[in-house]
Amino acid sequence: PNPFLALDYEPAFESLGSEYYDLVDAADFPQHLLRFRNDALLSKLGLDPDTVADADFIEAFGKFEGRTPLLAMRYHGYQFGVYNPALGDGRGFLYGQVQGTDGELYDFGTKGSGTTPYSRNGDGRLTLKGGVREVLAAEMLHRLGVRTSRCLSLVETGERLWRGDEPSPTRSSVMVRFSRSHIRFGTFERLHRLDRPDLVRTLLDHVIATYYPHLQGQPDADARFYAELVQRMAELAAQWMSVGFCHAVLNTDNMSITGESFDYGPYAFIQTFDPRFTAAYFDYSGLYSYGNQPIICRKNLEMLQVPLSLVMSLADMEAGLVQFEEHYFSAYRRRMLNKLGLPQLPDDQADNLIGLTQQFLQATQIGYHDFFLTLRQQFEPGWYEGASRILENVMAENAEALVSSFKQWRQAYHGALQQVPETEMAAVQRCLDAHNPDLVIVRPEIEAIWEPITENDNWQPFYDLLQRIEKSVT
Ligand code: AMP
Ligand code: MG
Ligand code: MG
Repeated sequence: PNPFLALDYEPAFESLGSEYYDLVDAADFPQHLLRFRNDALLSKLGLDPDTVADADFIEAFGKFEGRTPLLAMRYHGYQFGVYNPALGDGRGFLYGQVQGTDGELYDFGTKGSGTTPYSRNGDGRLTLKGGVREVLAAEMLHRLGVRTSRCLSLVETGERLWRGDEPSPTRSSVMVRFSRSHIRFGTFERLHRLDRPDLVRTLLDHVIATYYPHLQGQPDADARFYAELVQRMAELAAQWMSVGFCHAVLNTDNMSITGESFDYGPYAFIQTFDPRFTAAYFDYSGLYSYGNQPIICRKNLEMLQVPLSLVMSLADMEAGLVQFEEHYFSAYRRRMLNKLGLPQLPDDQADNLIGLTQQFLQATQIGYHDFFLTLRQQFEPGWYEGASRILENVMAENAEALVSSFKQWRQAYHGALQQVPETEMAAVQRCLDAHNPDLVIVRPEIEAIWEPITENDNWQPFYDLLQRIEKSVT
């Protein structure tokens, strides 16, 4: 028996009733080539990788044999600030929900599995490169301690897809996402548009019972749910900002009600610190730039108040949202101090040092990840001479301003380091090693593994990269 089909599926979202989804079927594909299986996730399902064959992945998540019902979730959303009621699962569906060995409920969500009532002009397909990119993003973010969905499997389907931005056809895939929930802010927005407070109430009760169970039954559960969502989103934004991740499409249909990061399209990890960096070529105004992400998350939370106010107090939500900044800055400060190896630094000194670090990184445009990786190596012999040489080269161009920016940073940083007792220096090194990866999948890294796939169907560099991601922090 296929171990995936034998799992104990819970009809959680299904039990909400047909107002929330449509029943769908998967497409038939000419080929089924398993390109990725995430064995690390199998233990969460209580499965031993040795007992799960590639053929099991393909049957369950490539051919979609033996499992019903499959649900296309209904949702609307604000896309680049414009309300779009023509959304919903258009190239994927909710395959099933299972309780993990950690007691949490997880979704299997497909992407690229065929058309649905919400495909409209789309083909319901996912490019192979899109699948590969989502696998890499999720694994990298997970490794960096960002609360994220993962990918369970990627199956190449043998179809050829024509995409507007490519001169020749490209390869196709089906990905299965393993995540906390596919209920989005936009799932609530749709119910407001339909003027159905009853459906908002039912969905909100479901969300609290399933994803915020510690609040269930409390008199102020609704207000506390919203306040906790604000905190989770603020922390998520701080996680993205500290690891240098630009999600690129922060529409309200890509915002999970659990505060988990998901749906990785044209994302990019920044190469240098530039708040205006934009990852999506179609984001002409820079709305979803790297530096805007906290503001956008806050704005999306504010817009979520509209549908929720059909069933709960607006004043409570306004009071909850006020906490966003505090949650964001304290999470960002904690993360950046870890990257600097100085988790104990007092707040005011921390903010000064982090500000100087940002100024320095922005002024010099030296590599964001290289900078922190260099800090990892700073106690090795010969480090100072090497680092100085790199800086001198960068600074040759705009010497005076940059030298003074560097001196200010160095003074603040060394001042902070000198406060650390000698006996704690090993802990500084461990902290630096744990929070600064020796590899980040910036775009050139992804292109480097994509080339052998397209040219020789050589997947080894992709698997090697996944291994390096896994070992990128110690
Ligand atoms: P996304 O930008 O991936 O968050 O998707 C936004 C909306 O477009 C969702 O409703 C998707 O299901 C839909 N969509 C994206 N690509 C396709 C496609 N190739 N075929 C059908 N629907 C799609
Ligand atoms: Mg079929
Ligand atoms: Mg989406």
